[in-house]
Amino acid sequence: MGHLERRLLGLRQRLLFTDEPDPGVLQGVFALLYVLDLTLRAAGNGSPLDVGMWPTVGLALTAITSVLAVAVPWERLPPWAVGLLPMLDLAALGLSRMDEQGGGAGILAVVPALWLGRQFGRRGAVAAVLGTTLLLALPSLVFLGFTGVNLSRAVLIPVVAGWAAFAIASALDQVRAGMDVIAHQRRISEAIFDTVDVGLVLLDRTGAYEGMNKRHEDFMRLAYPAGHAGTAGQLGLVYGGDGSTLFARDEMPTYRASRGEEFADIRIWVGNDPLTRRALSVSARRVEDERGAFAGAALAYKDVTDFMRALRVKDEFVASVSHELRTPLTSINGYVNILLERDDLPTDVVAQLEVVARNTVRLTRLVSDLLHTAQNDEGPMRVVREHTDLAAVVRGCVEAAGPAARRAQVTIAVDAPDTLTANVDAERMAQVVDNLLSNAVKYSRREGHVRVRLGTDAGGVVLSVADDGIGIDAADRDRLFTRFFRTREAEERAIQGVGLGLSITRSIVEAHGGRVEVHSQLGVGSEFVVRLPQ
Ligand code: ADP
Repeated sequence: MGHLERRLLGLRQRLLFTDEPDPGVLQGVFALLYVLDLTLRAAGNGSPLDVGMWPTVGLALTAITSVLAVAVPWERLPPWAVGLLPMLDLAALGLSRMDEQGGGAGILAVVPALWLGRQFGRRGAVAAVLGTTLLLALPSLVFLGFTGVNLSRAVLIPVVAGWAAFAIASALDQVRAGMDVIAHQRRISEAIFDTVDVGLVLLDRTGAYEGMNKRHEDFMRLAYPAGHAGTAGQLGLVYGGDGSTLFARDEMPTYRASRGEEFADIRIWVGNDPLTRRALSVSARRVEDERGAFAGAALAYKDVTDFMRALRVKDEFVASVSHELRTPLTSINGYVNILLERDDLPTDVVAQLEVVARNTVRLTRLVSDLLHTAQNDEGPMRVVREHTDLAAVVRGCVEAAGPAARRAQVTIAVDAPDTLTANVDAERMAQVVDNLLSNAVKYSRREGHVRVRLGTDAGGVVLSVADDGIGIDAADRDRLFTRFFRTREAEERAIQGVGLGLSITRSIVEAHGGRVEVHSQLGVGSEFVVRLPQ
């Protein structure tokens, strides 16, 4: 905006009373209108220089008032003092109307009245009514006589001027009340902003930092010991969830948020000193303008250091306990199988040993699931790929699931080609089929049906395990693959499980570059589909 434009805007705001009243400007306006009134009156009378004695005195008063308006340092005087100027203007108007022909534009009283209302609120409006009555209406009425026209003017001028003054005063009251509410809300927001135990950052649409709270300043000192330039994406001591891989620019949460991305719970570490570094969970939301266009982003940084450390301790503990349990379990399993091979055992002992064998297998699987889950946090799962006949893997798993299915009176149908070779980790894929199949059997009803399909489509290998069992609520579908998550239906029916199978299934499938889909309806059944690229 140019200099002239700025000045014009300033002048407009003063004239329209949006800014604090400026005595010089308002008095200037009044003086101009006053002179215009006298000039037009004199011109109309045919004698341009003769405006009568009292109006001339009024003109002199206006001139003096104008000089006072610009010469006196009003800001240093008590606030009420400046109110003298509009009062003098009213007196000048009173004088201008003391003219035998009954002239004087009484309408001009609106200017000082608005000024008083704007500057002093309701009190100013009262002063405007009193001022117009005493300084303008009464004198001219006395001077010009009690004729109908004069009386009407003497009443109407104070009423109209007072109405204008009250109108502007109450509009101002409303604006002030609104501003008070805004200021109060703002103080509350600022207090909340600085009190919450979460680091908060606001970015504008260009990715520049618009603000951050005190909590986040602590995190910034750890991440940027040498200072920060205030733009999203600056590299610093910011590491990924493993705590050791430095983030590149396009991985930085602020950079991603500044591109309009929304995310939740991205784990990062800031700082490199093991004693002071913090683990943070970062979430981002877009901020949009009224038209829905991207206007910036808000990011929240939650300190999860204790949680991450506790997780690590827990995982180390689980890993070492499971490791220790494996050896005795292997030996129990081995000896039970040796015993079962003997043919001199009474049948009831064989039946009991079979129970022992079954539970040992279950325990072994649970222990290896726990071990796997604890280790899996250290990075993506490693798979050893080799040419594998997946159809044989599937048939092997179906056979292994046979006894459990028979006990639950569930039938398993298989729909698979004779062979289907894929480049996969055979043992891990068997674990996937085992998990899906054992779930399908576990979460089926008596006399339920499970169907396993194996085939290919344009995208690669497709394995589907479908049941007509208890089904899964739509609200639970996203959390199925979270560790230790179990649906309410599973818990209520006391079906055995710990909630690890699906999380392991997904990491195995993803380690192969594939994905798992779920289609399910509560009370109708579920289908889990594994897709692997070929
Ligand atoms: P687990 O079966 O040991 O509880 P999973 O990770 O295999 O653990 O499964 C997680 C949860 O998902 C289960 O507890 C169950 O609530 C639900 N679920 C899995 N498969 C099915 C299925 N086929 N039908 C219904 N619910 C299932």
